[in-house]
Amino acid sequence: MNEFEAGRPVVLRGGTVLPMSPGGSRRVLPRTDVLVTGDRIAAVGPELEAPEDAVVIDASGGLVMPGMIDTHRHMWQTALRGYGADWTLTQYFVWFYLEHGKLFRPEDIHAGNTLAAIEALDAGVTTVVDWSHGLRTVDHADAAADALESVPGRYVLAYGNIQQPPAEWTAAPEFRDFVRRRGAGGDMLGFQIAFDVLGDPSFPERPAFEVARELGAAVTTHAGVWGATSDDGIRLMHEHGFMTPETIYVHAASLSADSYHRIAATGGSISVSTESEQSAGQGYPPTWAVRAHGIPVSLSMDTSVWWSGDLFSAMRATLGADRSREHLEAHAKGETVTHCGLRADQVVEWATRGGARALGRDDLGVIEPGKKADLVLVKNEHSPVSFPILNPFGHVAFQAQRGDVHTVIVDGRVVKHEHRLLGVDLAGARAQVERTVEHLRSAMSDEAWEQGMNPDIPSAEVLDNPYTYTDYRSDATHRR
Ligand SMILES: [Zn+2]
Repeated sequence: MNEFEAGRPVVLRGGTVLPMSPGGSRRVLPRTDVLVTGDRIAAVGPELEAPEDAVVIDASGGLVMPGMIDTHRHMWQTALRGYGADWTLTQYFVWFYLEHGKLFRPEDIHAGNTLAAIEALDAGVTTVVDWSHGLRTVDHADAAADALESVPGRYVLAYGNIQQPPAEWTAAPEFRDFVRRRGAGGDMLGFQIAFDVLGDPSFPERPAFEVARELGAAVTTHAGVWGATSDDGIRLMHEHGFMTPETIYVHAASLSADSYHRIAATGGSISVSTESEQSAGQGYPPTWAVRAHGIPVSLSMDTSVWWSGDLFSAMRATLGADRSREHLEAHAKGETVTHCGLRADQVVEWATRGGARALGRDDLGVIEPGKKADLVLVKNEHSPVSFPILNPFGHVAFQAQRGDVHTVIVDGRVVKHEHRLLGVDLAGARAQVERTVEHLRSAMSDEAWEQGMNPDIPSAEVLDNPYTYTDYRSDATHRR
């Protein structure tokens, strides 16, 4: 089979198109075609003429949106999908940073990255920043890049190493050699540098920032993470002149207004991982505060050790957390929110064009002629949730899910069609991940493996209740 041979034009017919154009985010184009030739969107409009050899995809009854963009995902950790579902951030740090992160071999990084890359495509996430902080050696980094290049999505390798201070690993000749070999910032595999600023007044991260500047690489940093990074890190970066428009501040969940002012004034953006912030404890998901500062936002999933790499979840969780906070802030003042501040189209924008803007890619995240053809068709004829589509943005944010991703196109190439991935070796990815799980489990001992997955539960007493006079519980037990 190769209906979708590379280079063949593709036309998506009759879908409801969400172009996400700047200044017109809420615009919806009903019964509209999108024509793709080469790696670009060639035309958008009703009943387009298409070349004779074009593949026709029936998008009627579906939504055509830009490919989604995740600006912060530790892809190597996907080999341990779901393992840390009941963790806090402290348990995550102990497990990965202090204890078992060192057990990952280059092939384990490869396994996690490969599965994460495939998983992203399947969910319509066409670009992912791989916040790759498990690169203990350059062999690990080559494995990470090899994996990303083996899957037909768009990725940015954000090079990091939690086992050494950033000033050390960025100064290593083999790191520079890696950047020379593979950090050219290609269209399908970009390059950034990933490290955190811990707030030490002597600013030991300074040399790492200097290396990034010299190499022309953007820095991405976990900022405003309760117990780890704070306003001090932001202030140091600002005072030393290392806050730039390309900088992505991940979480930014426990920062003061002063830090938000500094981020806004220097043009950077914030990557919000709502599900992560809610469960792990970096701070309250910050969109409710960030919106007031006019700072650009993108969305991210952080790690599949807890959550799945699915931006539908991110959009839903972010709307919920933002509105929840808005209501609670009002209730604390005895007031009632009658109109929601954050709208569904805004989170769809954050999941698409917001990510593109954070990465400085104005050719992504928008459906317009001349832009890169990274597209998602949300359509599922077998789902009772696929109709009616009355509010397309509300549908994407609250109704749709990864199983509804019918077609995915990256760089003009169809990589998923009729809910099936194309040109992707899922069986190979499964075999790699099985070997990694086996390796980790045997290196850790079964006992440590089980303990790691099942942390102790803090003791909690059920409160005394003055109203428990009747013995309804034992009644209910008898009836059963
Ligand atoms: Zn992270």
